[in-house]
This record gives sequence, C-alpha cells and structure tokens, in this order.
Amino acid sequence: MNNLVGIFDTHAHYDDVKFCDTRDDLLSSMNKDGVSYICNVGSDLKSSETSIELASKYEFIYSAVGVHPESIYDLPHDWLNRVENLAKQDKVVAVGEIGLDYHYPDYSKKKQFDAFERQLDLAKNLKKPVIIHSRDAVEDTISILKNFPEISGVIHCFSGSAEVACKYIEMGWYIGFTGVVTFKNAKKAVEAVRVVPTEKIVIETDCPYMAPEPWRGRCCNSKMLVSVATKIASIKNLLPQEIVDITRKNAFELYRINV
Ligand SMILES: [Zn+2]
Repeated sequence: MNNLVGIFDTHAHYDDVKFCDTRDDLLSSMNKDGVSYICNVGSDLKSSETSIELASKYEFIYSAVGVHPESIYDLPHDWLNRVENLAKQDKVVAVGEIGLDYHYPDYSKKKQFDAFERQLDLAKNLKKPVIIHSRDAVEDTISILKNFPEISGVIHCFSGSAEVACKYIEMGWYIGFTGVVTFKNAKKAVEAVRVVPTEKIVIETDCPYMAPEPWRGRCCNSKMLVSVATKIASIKNLLPQEIVDITRKNAFELYRINV
C-alpha cells in the first residue's frame, strides 16, 4: 500500500487493546512498508510502561511517558515519581501526552492544571520535550505554556485554526497533523497546514484512532500515513516523499534523536 520510505509516525498507541491480536505482525511489517520510526505515547502509568516495553522490543520504536488529562483522576499518591522514573528509561524521548481536555463534562480544571503543570515542571527538570494534548482548551493551554518558556515540543493531533497554529509556531512548537487533514470536510486543518512552515510539521497517526481517507473509520496504523503525507504534499506543492523526508528530520529534532 506504500511506495514511500522513511516515514516517522510521531504519535501512536500500539499498547491499545485494539492491537491485541495484530500488534506483533503489524509492527514486524512496518519497515518493509515504509515506516522507519514510531514514537509510542503513554497516556497513563500503565500505557507508559507498555510504551517502554515496546521500545525495548523494537529497535525502530521510541516512547513517551506521561498522564493524559482524562487519566488524572484516581492516580496513586506517588504517580509523579513514577512518571519521573519511567521518563529516565532508555529510549524515552518525551514527556507526554499531557495537557488539558474540556471536551467531556464533569472535568476538573483545577486538577487538570495541577497535573499538567507538575508534568511540565518534570519535563523542564529532565530537559525533555513534551507532547501536548489540548482539546477545547486553547487559551488555557497557551497561557500555561507561556509560563514554561524553556520547554518545547509538539502540539499533537492539531485541530485548531490557522491563527492558533501561528501562535504555537511563534512560541517555537512543532505541530502534529493526523489523518484529519485528509477528511473531506477538513477545511480548517488544511488552512492550518498551509500556514505552518514545513520545518515545523510532523505527521502522526494517533492510532488506533483517526484513520485517514480512504480508511476512515477503520483501525488506523502507521502505514496509513502515506495518505497524510500525500495530502500535505499537495497543499505544500511538494512531492509526498519530500514531506516524508522533511517530517522525519523534524521528528528527529523534536525528539532529539541522533541517528
Ligand atoms: Zn494520543
């Protein structure tokens, strides 16, 4: 399905139960289908541990560890210490995904701020980049990040306007685009791709979610990024392979990987 080579999927969740039956076959076939690097991202303590295990099993996989805003309730008292210990493991390239999410009712802003800021502090102390999850919370995300000018990273699964993208770019952040850019109604995402400089774009699946066209609605995997790269290439007037090469280089810089 793929004639591109060297794809870096900067945000995936192969720890997800949806991959229970297919995980090893799928991951073993990535390289031959053009996917050269994956960052598997934790969203709570358990998935952070599994991300590290995947990275130790597969040479081309890196990991990120952190607690997602929807997973901050019912954490053990020593959770931050545990994230810190995990973050110091081999091949952990970022703290994430962390952030703010006001999408579902009954969230606690106070608790989300607290968990977010503590993990930003941790990233600052460990000198690691961070992976930001921000849903329906642009203003608060930006105002918190402005208090941490020494931190950089990626705004993952970017879903905001071109104007918001520009704000993050001014602050030095990378923007992660998913399969959403391929959707037929994706006007806003397309506008955002247009304004973000190519050297600040990374591509990601957020799999098993967000499968791009023509696989929309199916279980997503990193090979499908061929369609995201092709769409971004058409917006930027470049070849799909050029987008794969540029976004791979950007991902190396973002996650500070020396290859
Ligand atoms: Zn994610």
